[in-house]
Amino acid sequence: MDKREYFIRALNEGLYRDKRWVLRMFSLVRENQKEDQVPDWMAYQSTGGFFYKDPEAGRLVQLDEKPNGKPLIDYDEDIFIKKGELPFITEDMTTKYRRVLLHAVMFWYPFGTKEKFTNGQVDLGKFETRIAKNFADDAETQEAELPELYYPRQLELYYEAGSYLRSFAMLFVPAASPKSLSIDPAVLKRRDELLNDPNINIDDQAIAAQVEAELVKMDKDSFKGDLAERFLISKKDFPVIRKKRMIAVGSESGLRDGSKTPYIKASLDDGIDIQRFPDYNNGMRSGSYKRGVETQAGGELFKWLIRQALNIQMPMDDCGTKIGMPDIIDDANKTQFLGYSIIGEKGPIILAEDNIGSYLGKTVLRRSPATCRTGAPDYCATCLGPKLSSNPDALPVAFSQFGNDVMLESMGAMHGKSLEIALFDIVEQAS
Ligand SMILES: [Zn+2]
Repeated sequence: MDKREYFIRALNEGLYRDKRWVLRMFSLVRENQKEDQVPDWMAYQSTGGFFYKDPEAGRLVQLDEKPNGKPLIDYDEDIFIKKGELPFITEDMTTKYRRVLLHAVMFWYPFGTKEKFTNGQVDLGKFETRIAKNFADDAETQEAELPELYYPRQLELYYEAGSYLRSFAMLFVPAASPKSLSIDPAVLKRRDELLNDPNINIDDQAIAAQVEAELVKMDKDSFKGDLAERFLISKKDFPVIRKKRMIAVGSESGLRDGSKTPYIKASLDDGIDIQRFPDYNNGMRSGSYKRGVETQAGGELFKWLIRQALNIQMPMDDCGTKIGMPDIIDDANKTQFLGYSIIGEKGPIILAEDNIGSYLGKTVLRRSPATCRTGAPDYCATCLGPKLSSNPDALPVAFSQFGNDVMLESMGAMHGKSLEIALFDIVEQAS
């Protein structure tokens, strides 16, 4: 049997749920198991080669792979799988061994064949949003479960799979590479050109953002194909951490609101530019000061809002307003509009499964508390929408959410941030 055939067979036998098997497939191990105690289909390594326990023969059988001092399967190795060889593979394809393993653990185990195999990077955030939107109470029996819904029973298995998966971080996630410990000299050469160009006013925030964007992109591009590419995936790795450490410290927050220290051209690796000692200190002082003051600002706002909102009531079903917030409904976001009302010619129209299709791709005016005509401090049920109006006693909590948002934003702002230019969408910000 070759390793491809064996891998598929072992997955079908459920061995992906056994940590020992995964470790034996993707790394070299020193066996501490007696040959006669190896479970059926389990892999086994010795200096003589790779084996598996054949249940029919009742003994270890050698795989057709010559030992070459490397693990049986390389983390990046391709595998060709035919449709149906594994229940979740629905067409012939070439993919990676590791992707098949990931799918078996994270999706096949908790959800059966319901989830489609992704031959590429999996976006768990998106997947979990889908779970949240289609979540139902446990059904009486597993046969009564609907394929489009997710159940607590499955979610428990999914969490279990997630914590199991962590045990393979050592196999699949490199912590560093020679490249990640250094920087391409071409980036530093370009940095010196840009930062010392008399025509570039680096203390102008917008210009500094452009200069940094170019250097950060150069740095990031130099990692194409490097092992560390799979590790440096946090949004902060390049524009914040590597930029400050290896390119330039840049501007820190100043002591006054919204102010910035002048641009520091040296990187942390270059050492502290002693001429700029006050700026480093101002940056640090403003960071620790804000950590205290702005955390309490959000907390105080929350308490203030909740006191103010305690008397909010929902005295009527519909205030009759003709003003709403513009929203574009598309396939990706349509479920979040279900139950909400939009402005129609003869009054509000409730968006439901059977009519939302006719609004796809269109801009609608959604009824919103922001445009409610009920006298202050109250709101009508239609403007509040289905979730808030079904819990009118909880309105003060929803109302004071702004305080939490302020706190979250200011906590986020205290940590390392990258300087970027963004387009301000006034309608999106207001809705
Ligand atoms: Zn209203």
